[in-house]
Amino acid sequence: MRSAVMAGLCPGHPRSSAKKDVDARDKRGHDVERLSACRYSGRMSARSALKAKQEPVQSETSSRPAWLLAWYDRHRRRLPWRAAPGEASDPYRVWLSEIMLQQTTVKAVGPYFEKFLARWPDVAALGRASQDDVLRMWAGLGYYSRARNLHACAVAVTREHGGIFPDTEEGLRALPGIGPYTAAAIAAIAFDRRTMPVDGNIERVVSRLYAVEEELPLAKTRIQQLAATLLADTRAGDSAQALMDLGASICTPKKPACSLCPLSEDCTARAKGTQETFPRKASKKSGALRRGAAFVVTRGDELLVRSRPEKGLLGGMTEVPGSDWLAGQDDAAARKHAPGLKGLSRWQRRVGVVTHVFTHFPLELVVYTAKAEARTRAPEGMRWVPIATLAGEALPNVMRKVIAHALDV
Ligand code: SF4
Repeated sequence: MRSAVMAGLCPGHPRSSAKKDVDARDKRGHDVERLSACRYSGRMSARSALKAKQEPVQSETSSRPAWLLAWYDRHRRRLPWRAAPGEASDPYRVWLSEIMLQQTTVKAVGPYFEKFLARWPDVAALGRASQDDVLRMWAGLGYYSRARNLHACAVAVTREHGGIFPDTEEGLRALPGIGPYTAAAIAAIAFDRRTMPVDGNIERVVSRLYAVEEELPLAKTRIQQLAATLLADTRAGDSAQALMDLGASICTPKKPACSLCPLSEDCTARAKGTQETFPRKASKKSGALRRGAAFVVTRGDELLVRSRPEKGLLGGMTEVPGSDWLAGQDDAAARKHAPGLKGLSRWQRRVGVVTHVFTHFPLELVVYTAKAEARTRAPEGMRWVPIATLAGEALPNVMRKVIAHALDV
């Protein structure tokens, strides 16, 4: 009975009766294998039958880690950084993917992960790269402080740890760019340390499973404690990845597929029919709209650019000259920040504005264009770059939008 339950099959039915909808795609484009075996039908499931026969039962909570692992063994997502079943994880791949996945979807990260791995196959190779090269390769992935920390971390692991990642949460947290969540994720997945990293997916699953009424972010400590009870005695990394996958493919923010969930019979929110109302969240105040101007100057087939200061938003990235981005700034004030170049044509204001949303504020930029004469020198701190090589510059997305708007590309 137990093996049939763990395999996800209805006892008494031949294995071939379990229908699979293999390779259904979830919203983020991962391969998801969803079962529609009869254990998920309206009839009493194997676990219910078992419970009914053996009442009173011991606390079901102790079985959850095993149910999760059994589900994971059948339905795990295939991800480029994930070790195949039975294979040891590569700490470099785990670390690289975890840094890239901060604030970013799996779908967006995939091509960047492959590019980085092809160019820098191990941490020592990345540690020898220049920060500029790393920023250029990262361009488009956003949150650029991650790229600078990624490079600093690779340098630290190479120089201070002989190219080997520390295998404890404490050791990992001492490295640049590795906070508590990332340290726990690497420690669990790469080194099988018994710790549960709690990301947004896991927060959602746990808050529903236990119907946590406390609002986020205050509920984080409680959710962390509850999530830790879902760790199996061994295979800590798989326990964490099972919960991550469950949150990504089954316990989704809207319309969770509870009938396919291995924990459905023990889920408090599902029993009450309130699953979509969890996790409870304190209302967010979004930042005020900031406004500014961007100045796109061409000299033949070249473009005038500069580098942003190392510290702060988009630190070290390439941009066209522009005003500060300020709430309540009007066009006339922003326009005064146009760069001064000799022999420049009249500034033309492009119709419309470029909009971009950062984590803490939305931005609106008015774009001006002008042409410089051949051999016009770039003002101090700026440089001319061929438009044909812009793809190789560390341009953040907002600047790509500005240039596309200005040059009609
Ligand atoms: S039963 Fe539904 S709400 Fe509960 S954990 Fe599973 S998918 Fe999420």
